[in-house]
Amino acid sequence: MGKYSFEEIVNHLKSSGFVYQGSEIYGGLSNSWDFGNLGSELKKNIKDLWWKEFIQKDPNNVGIDAAIIMNPKTWEASGHLKGFSDLMIDCKECKSRFRADKMIEEATGISTEGKGPEEMMHVIEENRVACPKCGKHNFTQPRPFNLMFKTFIGTLEDSKSVVYLRPETCQGIFVNFENVLRTSRRKLPFGIGQIGKSFRNEITPGNFIFRTREFEQMELEFFYDPKDTTDWYKYWVDICVAFVQRLGIRDENLRVREHAKEELAFYSRGTSDIEYAFPFTDWGEVWGIADRTDYDLSQHQKYSGKNMTYLDQASGESFIPYVIEPSVGVERLFLMCVCDAYDVEELEGDDQRVVMHLHPSIAPIKASILPLSKKLKDRAIELYKDLAEDIRVEYDDAGSIGKRYRRNDAIGTPFCITYDFDSENDGCVTVRDRDTMAQVRIPMAEVKDYILKRIKF
Ligand code: ATP
Repeated sequence: MGKYSFEEIVNHLKSSGFVYQGSEIYGGLSNSWDFGNLGSELKKNIKDLWWKEFIQKDPNNVGIDAAIIMNPKTWEASGHLKGFSDLMIDCKECKSRFRADKMIEEATGISTEGKGPEEMMHVIEENRVACPKCGKHNFTQPRPFNLMFKTFIGTLEDSKSVVYLRPETCQGIFVNFENVLRTSRRKLPFGIGQIGKSFRNEITPGNFIFRTREFEQMELEFFYDPKDTTDWYKYWVDICVAFVQRLGIRDENLRVREHAKEELAFYSRGTSDIEYAFPFTDWGEVWGIADRTDYDLSQHQKYSGKNMTYLDQASGESFIPYVIEPSVGVERLFLMCVCDAYDVEELEGDDQRVVMHLHPSIAPIKASILPLSKKLKDRAIELYKDLAEDIRVEYDDAGSIGKRYRRNDAIGTPFCITYDFDSENDGCVTVRDRDTMAQVRIPMAEVKDYILKRIKF
């Protein structure tokens, strides 16, 4: 667990423009959050970075953008209509409702993944698990609760018009497997990625943006020939771990947890979670990497009656490829990055500064242009306009220079560019580094390159 309480970090994010309570003026809506002027930039940067690393720079991979509302047969085939339910449990005393597995895990540390209602009740009884709200021990039987949001299409609200908001983005990829194969002319192994909203009617959302009912996923489905001897599962676990490490997340706050055999879905050959030591829990899942074999494509072949096989030109053999799925939530990556980056540093005297050591590639604002006096506004704005063509920068001429530095440190801006009276004559500006607070003086014409070089991933 880090040095700072979750409450302190959340307050900072709320007060500085990263995250607002959703529909705040109407009293909010349970666990819904809006991303503000800085949060929307951070989120976008995370998504752009993922796309760049997993799609743009990988010659095997392509992206798609599928519809959120899909033919409901999709969810029959994927098993979500029958099986996508968590076990919920009610406290008979205070009427609070919980997700049984999470309640047990938080109280006892015992993982109940894959266990049914009776086995769960047994663990609750054996360990005398108490209600997290009122502390009493008097529960209903755990019972399943489907997590999919239901709605209707068209004018009639009958059973024929029922549709669902997708609970995961990957099914949009599986149903388009043959389309992508045809139009992209890829050969195995290759991946299809997608970023988009998913919806789950979580029983107990919470911990700020960690678990919400509406969130964004970045998923890659990497298809391969089951006879291929490369360990693609390990390959993708390593790539995802490296991604998180390159973002600067501290090793002591990271671990990879390989699921035990009993935890795996029956079709899965292996699953690993990249977990982070969030301030509100011991370890929380950020990224799941699963070997899903040929389960999804086989199911869609069965339910749609359409051919989901791949024809290997060399051998003339047709088969359903296996798939590795690295799946990560945008908000969880966001939360991990800000928790790891947040710091309060003691400075000389009694002074302190709040600073977010975000990796420059994802920092919401890359540089702030700060004229030392309002009289220098015109040239400073010219510099702002030139940089803004290529870089997300801000202009700020209000308050003392010290205060402006602090404001920028607190939102993670890697560079502050001071335009002073000397700049008028020597054409140079002072660039201050957020982390070291060191300053260098460089010609204005070189500032863009200087920053572009330093904000690379
Ligand atoms: P959990 O056990 O936390 O409910 P999960 O194992 O059901 O998660 P997956 O279905 O594997 O999660 O989803 C892949 C990723 O999507 C997760 O690793 C997480 O980053 C993100 N995610 C899943 N559910 C939510 C949610 N309710 N809110 C925010 N992000 C989520």
